[in-house]
Amino acid sequence: MEKLQDNSKMPAPINVYLGLGSNEGNRQQLMTQAIELLSHFLGHPLRLSTTIETEPWGFSSSNPFLNMVALFSTNLSPVELLDITEGVERRLGRMKKTLRDGVYSDRPMDIDILLYGDRVINTERLTVPHPRMHERSFVIEPLAEISPDLVHPTLGKSILELKKNLSV
Ligand code: ADP
Ligand code: MG
Repeated sequence: MEKLQDNSKMPAPINVYLGLGSNEGNRQQLMTQAIELLSHFLGHPLRLSTTIETEPWGFSSSNPFLNMVALFSTNLSPVELLDITEGVERRLGRMKKTLRDGVYSDRPMDIDILLYGDRVINTERLTVPHPRMHERSFVIEPLAEISPDLVHPTLGKSILELKKNLSV
């Protein structure tokens, strides 16, 4: 009998959380542009945190960051998603990789893949969950705002619990 529909090759969309940061140029405009460009490839975000201002982390700079977290739903693979986020970074003026002489530096736009569903990925190009996300209040604060009950896939704790741990 002929099958009416074969859904076997259609992956279910995955919830992905992206962390955005900017500390160079017109930061608010860059954040808006980044969300617009990402939406072009990924569809409208399901949730957007508010934007917070934070001090540079891991390097010294007089330019504070704006940070936010966005939730999208996508059928793209993790590497396809990374190609998109890196393309958006370049489009918004990012010239170089962060590590210059082993030190972080200012950037108009940094987009990190924080979570890709509950997948655990360890390849040369991608480490997901983002390995430092739970140590960074500029990630956990906005993430807790949009998805407090989300459970971190490897730490087994909710984002709200991670936020409480950060503040002790
Ligand atoms: P950082 O975000 O730590 O400041 P960069 O944005 O310069 O540093 O780092 C980009 C590199 O990190 C890329 O080469 C990318 O392949 C790698 N990478 C590994 N895991 C991730 C992830 N989860 N999200 C984004 N980039 C990642
Ligand atoms: Mg990055």
